[in-house]
Amino acid sequence: MSQQGILVVISGFSGAGKGTLMKALLEKYENYALSVSATTRQPRPGEVDGREYFFVSRDYFKSMVENDALIEYAQYVDNFYGTPKDYVEKKRMEGKDVILEIEIQGALKIKKKFPDTLLLFVMPPSAKELKKRLVNRGTESLDVIDARLKRASEEAVGIEAYDYIVINDEIDTCVEELHRLIQAQHNKTSNRLDFINEMREELTQL
Ligand code: 5GP
Repeated sequence: MSQQGILVVISGFSGAGKGTLMKALLEKYENYALSVSATTRQPRPGEVDGREYFFVSRDYFKSMVENDALIEYAQYVDNFYGTPKDYVEKKRMEGKDVILEIEIQGALKIKKKFPDTLLLFVMPPSAKELKKRLVNRGTESLDVIDARLKRASEEAVGIEAYDYIVINDEIDTCVEELHRLIQAQHNKTSNRLDFINEMREELTQL
C-alpha cells in the first residue's frame, strides 16, 4: 500500500552546508522533494527565483500570510521566510517525502502542526569550521556574518527539540545518514497506523 510522503525539517546554522547536502541528497535519491520557500531577502549571486527561493517584496509576503498561503513563516536576521502550503501538500499526496530547509522557529511550528515530522539538525564538525565556511562562502559582508554567528549561538540553545543531529564532516557519509534516518521515520508506528490496523483486522479474521 502506498504511503503519503512524510515531512522532514532540516535546520542547521548558516554555513553548516545544508544547501550542498540537500543538492547531493536529491541527486542521489528520487523520492524526495525540496520545498522552495518565499523570502524577502535579496537573491545572492547565482540564485534563481523559483529555484532557491521565491524572492518576493515585503508587501507580497504580507499578503501570503494574510491569505493563509504559508504553513509557517519566521523572521531570520532582517528578513522574512515562509513555506508555501500548496507545493508541500501536493508532493506529499504524490508520496514524496518533502524536505523543508528552515530555521528553528519554523521547525517548532511545523512539529506542533504535524507531530510526525522528523526534525534533523545539521552541525558542522566545530564552531571554528562554521566561521571558516561562512567567510569562505564570500557572499555576505562581515556584519552579516557576525549577525549569523550570533544567531547560531542563539539557535544552539534549542537543538534538543530536534530528533537527531547530523554532523556534516564528509558530504557522502552525511547524505547516507540523512537518507537512513528519513527511511527509518517511515516505519515509526505513528506513521504506519493504517498498516497496523489492517494487520489487526486481518488477524481477527484468521
Ligand atoms: P538564507 O538567507 O541563508 O538562505 O536562510 C536563512 C535561514 O532561513 C536558514 O536557516 C534557512 O534554513 C531559513 N529558512 C529558509 N526558508 C525558510 C522558511 O520557509 N521558513 C523558515 N522558518 N525558515 C526558512
